[in-house]
Amino acid sequence: MCPYNVLQIRTVPREEKAKFSLMGRVKLYVHSGKQAFVANPDACRGCGLCVQVCPEKAIKLQRAVQRTIEQSLPAD
Ligand code: SF4
Repeated sequence: MCPYNVLQIRTVPREEKAKFSLMGRVKLYVHSGKQAFVANPDACRGCGLCVQVCPEKAIKLQRAVQRTIEQSLPAD
């Protein structure tokens, strides 16, 4: 799915399934108990491939704001 291995597919453990809504459990069943999760967010290049292929239309890209420590400090 992701050429940079940002997203990975894993089987959702039983204890996590209990936290899903009814619709979430139905979707999980349809997808054989597997779900995509973000494993390596810093590797994302913003190519948008995952947005195009997600069957649930569950992925949206947002611009990240990076600040240095100096930029975060109040001005004197
Ligand atoms: S935008 Fe591209 S690099 Fe980022 S997670 Fe999606 S497929 Fe991977």
